[in-house]
Amino acid sequence: MAGRLAGKTCLVTGAGQGIGRAIVEAFVAEGASVIASDISDAHFGDLPREAMAERLDVTDAAAASAIVERHARIDVLVNCAGYVAVGDILECDAADFARSLRINVESIYLMIRAVLPGMRARRSGAIVNIASVVSTTMAARRRFVYSATKGAVLAMTRSIALDFVGDGIRCNSISPGTVDTPSLAERIGTSAEPERTRAEMIARQPMGRLGQPREIAAAAVLLASDESAFMTGADVVVDGGCAL
Ligand code: NAD
Repeated sequence: MAGRLAGKTCLVTGAGQGIGRAIVEAFVAEGASVIASDISDAHFGDLPREAMAERLDVTDAAAASAIVERHARIDVLVNCAGYVAVGDILECDAADFARSLRINVESIYLMIRAVLPGMRARRSGAIVNIASVVSTTMAARRRFVYSATKGAVLAMTRSIALDFVGDGIRCNSISPGTVDTPSLAERIGTSAEPERTRAEMIARQPMGRLGQPREIAAAAVLLASDESAFMTGADVVVDGGCAL
């Protein structure tokens, strides 16, 4: 049986681990040709063997153009690479502020500018940006610049959706709640009281558990596929009720 993404070439950034890797796995299972890109090749061996693994730093404009040029077509772009700076505004120094903007915001500008001309020429394309409920949707303590960048992701998504709706291009976002990924484990592990931090993160999820990467990937499949042909500029919240 043909999958929901059969015939589509999909480029996923930040694909080495966590949500990005789960998206690659789900896309491969749905029959897509997947280019799984990441700044690090440390986890390329864990990716499904059907995926094409390529090194890509999403903050590098030349590399963003080059990866798109290397492939005949990109039907779906998933901007998943991201960085979580922990701290309130007083704890956020200039370097962390700039880094957060580069990885979470400028990367999306660079990647979308690289894929849009081809999508426009083919009059077809789907872009999925991974945002967060910690954005304009809700606040979380000590996520000052992270929430600012993810709010920007939501705004960019709507802006691009409107500007290119006449070109057959759709642009949507997914806002995950707290998802059990390696970077989350690292944030918990480096906190002052890891056990307590984990319990607090679970407690703020009304479903009483963390999300799983595959649960975010399921929404990405929907937004990448033609099943969501009437959706653009939308934000799909997958958060176990966290933002209620
Ligand atoms: P993760 O840190 O586990 O994985 C991120 C991947 O991105 C890593 O493989 C890393 O090497 C890669 N990456 C980092 N900088 C990069 C760069 N400059 N260029 C290319 N790749 C780069 O992250 P995750 O928890 O799976 O999160 C993925 C996305 O989902 C992020 O945008 C994150 O903000 C968002 N998100 C995560 C959660 C959560 O609870 N985990 C919640 C809401 C939103």
